[in-house]
Parts: sequence; structure tokens; C-alpha cells
Amino acid sequence: MSEPTGPVGETEPQVVDPLDQPGVPDALQRLWTPYRMVYIGGADKPKDASEAECPFCRAPKRPDEESLIVHRGALAYVICNLYPYNPGHLLVCTYRHVSDYVDLTTAETAEVAELTRRAIRVIQHVSAPAGFNLGMNQGTVAGAGIAAHLHQHIVPRWQGDSNFLPVVGRTKAVPQFLADTRGLFADAWVDLYGAVPDDSPLDADPTPFRPDGEDA
Ligand SMILES: [Zn+2]
Repeated sequence: MSEPTGPVGETEPQVVDPLDQPGVPDALQRLWTPYRMVYIGGADKPKDASEAECPFCRAPKRPDEESLIVHRGALAYVICNLYPYNPGHLLVCTYRHVSDYVDLTTAETAEVAELTRRAIRVIQHVSAPAGFNLGMNQGTVAGAGIAAHLHQHIVPRWQGDSNFLPVVGRTKAVPQFLADTRGLFADAWVDLYGAVPDDSPLDADPTPFRPDGEDA
């Protein structure tokens, strides 16, 4: 038996098992939200408004699982928000790097709308929320995190999902990993709307919409 070290009478925490850390449990719960650290640290914040820096231009160039893409359409795609307000928070983005809603083509406008409708149906199918917040923030002053590339938010809402935590602690509890969310939605999308078409949407060449008589 080894002798205790340190001055006689001084109490030190004794670690018997490596997994037994010294210390006394307190009454506080710990909420681990490591994904927020990326945001706080600004690690993936674009350096400028260019397409090269834009996360919504880069995402479709990576595999769906890696970029958290749920579905690829012809002119727009659906992706899990990396910083969800609620579990199942999706974004609809055009492939084209467009900042203003009025600069979308007619076809892009229609597809963003249709993908929004389908995304709502998919979320309802997977997690049956009580309601939704839908919307776009155009411009940094309006709250857009990535103002250079327009994106439509689809936020499922449940009764009582807003509590003191976001207000006081500026923290949102999201009890599901994004990879799991993406997998559930991608499977549900195929169940409801069929498999992804073969043609590469990145080859699409949209023509900017101009009303009759308006010069480009
Ligand atoms: Zn972009």
C-alpha cells in the first residue's frame, strides 16, 4: 500500500478509476452544443461576398452526406441549416449566386417555391411539427447571415419550443445530430417524391428573368 503524498491533514481528490474525475456533482445540467463553437469562432464565415467564399455555392460541389444536402432540384437545392433554430431547420438555395429575390429567374422562383412546399411535406412526414416559420432575410441589415446568396428558411415549430434558453443564454438546444436529420429527410423525400433525377443540376444555365419591355 502506497503512502499518501502531500502534507498531513490536507485533503486532495483521490482518483481511483481514470473515469472518476475529482470533483463534486452540482445541481446544474450541462448542455453540449459543440456546433455553436464553429459559429462563435467564425471558422466558416465567408471572407467576402464572392462565389468562391460562398458556402451555398460550395455545398453542391461536395457529396450530399458531407454538405448536408437533402435534395437536389434542377435550379435549386434543399440543405440542412448548419446552425438550426430548431431540429429540422431546412434552407432552399438556388445554385446561382444571387443576393436579391427580384434577380431570380421565373423558373428559379417557381422551383424555390415548389421545393419549399415539398420540404414542408417532408418535415411533416418525418416529425409532424405544429407549425412553420418560412422566410428570407435579404441583406445583412435584415438579418441574413450569408447575404450574398439568397436562401429560403423553413423552420418547423412545436408548442413550447421557445423558452428562456435562447433569450437568456443565447443558446438553442437541438437534440439531434445534423447527419441524422439529413438522412431522415433525404429518405423521406425519396419516399414522397421519388429518386433524384440523373441530369446534373450544376449544368443548368438559367437566363435572368426580365419583364417584357425592360432592358437587361
Ligand atoms: Zn453563393
